Amino acid sequence: MKLFPMNFIVTNGTVGPIPDYGPNALIWVSIDGPQAIHDRIRGRGTYDRIVRNLDDYGRPFAVTTVLNRLNWPHLTELVDEWAGRGASAFYISLHTPQAGRIDELTLVGREREACIREVEKAWEGWPDLVVGSPGMFKSMLDGNLEGICPLARGILVCYDAAFNRRSPCGMMGNCRVCGLHYAHFLRAVEEGDEDALRWAQLLLGSLGKA
Ligand code: SF4
Repeated sequence: MKLFPMNFIVTNGTVGPIPDYGPNALIWVSIDGPQAIHDRIRGRGTYDRIVRNLDDYGRPFAVTTVLNRLNWPHLTELVDEWAGRGASAFYISLHTPQAGRIDELTLVGREREACIREVEKAWEGWPDLVVGSPGMFKSMLDGNLEGICPLARGILVCYDAAFNRRSPCGMMGNCRVCGLHYAHFLRAVEEGDEDALRWAQLLLGSLGKA
């Protein structure tokens, strides 16, 4: 299916076989921590099912992880493991609380900053695996993109699962606790950050065909 230069398919990876969407598609599998942590969050046995399904899939895939107060201290271990399993890319975002209200998994204050530093450390250790750039991390640490979010500018209209119109985006519009680091990544791209541009080219280009 060739709708865009690259189609990103996000899946929890638990249902196999994972379909082959063709050479212009890259599968992103959600993994929330090393086995014990992932299974605690997503259900017992889910981690092993993902590993089995990806082994059977046999094509390039990427990992997407949402960090929260439970799993962020295990990030290095997780990236190390999936580097060994042959992931093509690793995208990390932070937990965004429902309805914008801080919950028990939301990273705030010093803990949020420590977590972002850990993501930066992972990028420094695996610059060709972990999506990131100095500009992106600076923007993440600065925090609030309210009124300047490049992602929101690209959204014409957004509805949630109950067909309520959401503005400016589907992340419940609380930029202060938004964990979608893709917004910061786009900001770094707009500002000409070299590493962000390199990753943008990789993601839109040859990564899925590697
Ligand atoms: S909530 Fe997140 S994605 Fe939405 S406008 Fe704010 S920073 Fe952007």
